[in-house]
Amino acid sequence: MPESITTRAGSLLSLPTMGTRITINNLVKVFGSGANAATACDHLSLTIEPGELFFLLGPSGCGKTTLLRMIAGFIDPTSGRIDFDGKDVTHDAPNKRNTGMVFQSYALWPHMSVAQNVAFGLNVRKVPNPEKDQRVLDALAAVQMEQYAARKPNQLSGGQQQRVALARALVIKPAVLLLDEPLSNLDAKLRNDLRLQIRRICKDSGITTVYVTHDQKEALSMADRVALLKNGHIEQIGTPRELYRSPKNRFVAEFLGETNLIEAKATEIGTDRVQFEIEAGRFDAEPESNQDILTNSEHTLLSVRPEAIQLCKPGAEGSLPGSLLETTYLGETAQHLVEVKGCPPIKVAEMNPYSAGSAVHPEPGDAVGVRFMPTDVVPVHR
Ligand code: ADP
Ligand code: MG
Repeated sequence: MPESITTRAGSLLSLPTMGTRITINNLVKVFGSGANAATACDHLSLTIEPGELFFLLGPSGCGKTTLLRMIAGFIDPTSGRIDFDGKDVTHDAPNKRNTGMVFQSYALWPHMSVAQNVAFGLNVRKVPNPEKDQRVLDALAAVQMEQYAARKPNQLSGGQQQRVALARALVIKPAVLLLDEPLSNLDAKLRNDLRLQIRRICKDSGITTVYVTHDQKEALSMADRVALLKNGHIEQIGTPRELYRSPKNRFVAEFLGETNLIEAKATEIGTDRVQFEIEAGRFDAEPESNQDILTNSEHTLLSVRPEAIQLCKPGAEGSLPGSLLETTYLGETAQHLVEVKGCPPIKVAEMNPYSAGSAVHPEPGDAVGVRFMPTDVVPVHR
């Protein structure tokens, strides 16, 4: 771990408090009126804990930016309330809340050097020298950009510009850091590098961070907790693992990655184990969540992730019979599509394909079996 990130970010942002708790209560934002009214935020409530790296995730237009800008104070809510550490800030001006913001477009001043860009917020706040220079240096060190202090933004790569934008937000020692799709303009490799760096900077500094993205990988890899939004309301809130492994409904299951949705009839509901039936045969499930959905009067929708399913020899114990439709080879994985009677084509993700460890090496048209662990079957609401 680079020394400059951990130790310098810690000293830069050694905040007197533990970070701010953000409480959002029954928040509503309606744009326009009458026939043109659009509800961007629909009676939304949540609490973001001090020091938490909290993600607002969801498809385009679900209200992420609107919610973030209400937290910053740039948009006035229609109704509801926002508290910072128990103090009502709902209608306070942005400069009264002390939030730092980073946008998708870096929005650096082109005529100013990197150091001048970072110093901007300190000039506005009339922070005197030498404290100002020291804080600019510390902020640049926190994002590993100190050697670029004299450059102009157009002499930097996209990733470097975004790190300067982050330094500019951090240097004012904000109570809350707000990031709106900060990595969307960067290429895939840089995005991956910066994910880890941003997470480290946020966690080392202890600052409460709200991070907006439509990219589920970004949320899964960085977040302490995630709120998945749809049409201005929260579909589910939880840790990345909770959302991925225990999605409450079909929307959450599908948004968080690939999945198979299988309609099955429960033939036996025991306390732990449930037996399901589809046309191809029967299989066992031990759902870790959403047991309340199960009934034996109607079909249940089940989610099984492709990586939880293995291809095996036809007739192997505990497997359902099928036949291979096609395989897409991706190097590290192969994605198989298997026809299984009574459900849509089953997606199977195989790690390290065509190795000696593979149970089978089928060709399209071959008979195969598919099987999965009972605990990997998740009943979901429709
Ligand atoms: P996201 O950031 O998740 O893509 P936004 O918060 O930008 O979503 O937008 C949520 C909804 O509110 C969208 O339907 C959008 O068209 C609408 N909206 C956002 N800003 C305005 C505005 N200033 N005037 C009218 N409608 C808006
Ligand atoms: Mg947005």
